[in-house]
Amino acid sequence: MENNNFKSGYVSIVGRPNVGKSTLLNEIIGEKISAISSKPQTTRQNITFIYTDSEAQIIFLDTPGIQKPKNKLGEYMLEESKAGIEDADVITYIVDTSNIIGKQERVIIDILKEYKDKLPIILLINKIDTVKKEDLLQVIDMYNKEEIFDEIIPISALNADGVDIYIKTVKDYLKEGPIFYPEDMITDRNERFIAQELIREKALKYLQEEVPHGIAVEIEKFKKREEKDLYDINAIIYVERESHKGIVIGKNGQMLKKIAQESRESIENLIGSQVNLQVWIKVDKNWRDKDNSVKRFGYN
Ligand code: GDP
Ligand code: MG
Repeated sequence: MENNNFKSGYVSIVGRPNVGKSTLLNEIIGEKISAISSKPQTTRQNITFIYTDSEAQIIFLDTPGIQKPKNKLGEYMLEESKAGIEDADVITYIVDTSNIIGKQERVIIDILKEYKDKLPIILLINKIDTVKKEDLLQVIDMYNKEEIFDEIIPISALNADGVDIYIKTVKDYLKEGPIFYPEDMITDRNERFIAQELIREKALKYLQEEVPHGIAVEIEKFKKREEKDLYDINAIIYVERESHKGIVIGKNGQMLKKIAQESRESIENLIGSQVNLQVWIKVDKNWRDKDNSVKRFGYN
């Protein structure tokens, strides 16, 4: 790191749920931190990812997604996203290859217009592995007409296609600056928090319809056993309704068993130690409408 022209800065990642924000960040950082799932709204709060190479340190904020809030959790998520935008040096807006600008995209584009003259905005068109070239060109043209993007880069986060070009482009927009975090640090979140997100990810993976959005995970215990390479972790999965409890437990407890087992494997990978994971299910009725509960699950 003895580079005199070393650059550093913050990049906020915005985009509606499900466009691939977490997939991109996991690809850049190379480790599975932000929960990925095909269910929308997986990411609920800003998570910092840190990318460092010999030329630059880029600090990414994965924002929970801008959308019209429907409840207390939604209000919190919108505020978090806006705070993320304001702190940044560069904004990255991710969309997918849909050939129309939908309502959700319009909400975001209108917010981004406020930043047009203040910050560089890079548009990433993700999931290009799913479209033909001609169709992609139309999508690029459609966004170009909005006249707010400094760069438009087509990528496939899943195939790591175009991701290097994106990183290079970000560097072009960053100013010279110091290294803020140690070069081997990839997130400002602790293992306890990441374990919580991994359990939530597994639960989301297997649950259908209205159950997933009402799920929160709380880690009650996260403790290394003395003189052993083993962690005891106790977690509670909260659901919003009594009827959801049975669904999460599943027939003969099969669902919960599957969620707990996969969660344990992921956490073991993450911390590099054996894990004894105990998972309980509790009901916190309509917790997403309750300030206290939203805060208790770490969304504050
Ligand atoms: P987020 O809500 O914006 O964080 O989106 P995620 O990263 O959780 O991704 C949502 C879904 O889109 C997941 O099923 C991903 O596997 C999928 N996905 C992400 N990037 C790509 C891509 O480049 N191509 C394809 N085909 N799917 C992708
Ligand atoms: Mg996400």
